[in-house]
Amino acid sequence: MRKTRYGMAALAAGAALVLSACGGGSGSNGGGGEASGGGDTVRIGIKFDQPGLGFKNGNEYTGFDVDVAKYVAKELGYAEDKIEFVESPSANRENMLANKQVDMIFATYSITDERKKTVDFAGPYFVAGQDLLVRADDNSITGPDSLNGKNLCSVTGSTSAQRIKDEHAANVNLVERPSYAECVTAMQGGQIDAVTTDDIILAGLAAQPNNAGKYKVVGNPFSEENYGVGLPKGTDKCADINAAINKMIDDGAWEEALKKNTEGVDYTYNKELNPPKPGDACA
Ligand code: GLU
Repeated sequence: MRKTRYGMAALAAGAALVLSACGGGSGSNGGGGEASGGGDTVRIGIKFDQPGLGFKNGNEYTGFDVDVAKYVAKELGYAEDKIEFVESPSANRENMLANKQVDMIFATYSITDERKKTVDFAGPYFVAGQDLLVRADDNSITGPDSLNGKNLCSVTGSTSAQRIKDEHAANVNLVERPSYAECVTAMQGGQIDAVTTDDIILAGLAAQPNNAGKYKVVGNPFSEENYGVGLPKGTDKCADINAAINKMIDDGAWEEALKKNTEGVDYTYNKELNPPKPGDACA
């Protein structure tokens, strides 16, 4: 998990190596790359535009995913200043892990069998549910079955978009954007009637000062999204990460982080499904 300096390698070895290094190679760190602490840096993939979960404001990173990531990193031996946060959009997560552009991903990343073909997951550390965000005065949309003829926005590479295609495609006009914030902007512009993804993401967006009073979450969740820690396939880190998550839950930091990051947000997490109980092995 060591950060390498591409510049030095480039000087030594010429342009070909620059290209391969920039393509996501782990440089002089070789294939191992899983040093556990000390002076090393850990690269953690998060969302940059999901308020309350993963959010970048200048040089500050906030949100529940960020807090869980910091807690886990600390347990693995990485102080906060050894974390490099990297933006991991929904559609890029598997590739970013496979290409070693990040060491771990905490980005509202649902554990699925499909994704498990190419990545491993520790966790889960939270369970959300897919829901819909609509205009505050819209009472015509009450769930995925009332989207007839509506323009629905979701994000490429998400379970949210996939579920609509798999289960509700016939009657819906699905528009895909690179991020949920962009979906909300499209709804503001009038091209979109509803945005779909996990309830906690939608609630965080709805609570943004710019959006206050304009939108509402329908409140009829139609999936279980188990948020996992994305890891490169074949990792040996699941047991340690799961121990860290369980510790965070047991010592109250999990609850506190959730409370802090949903303050002022109209959202109550599902108490039957949370907190989850990660086991010893990868999910
Ligand atoms: N949790 C869902 C997923 O992993 C939706 C949220 C997201 O796109 O990050 O696809």
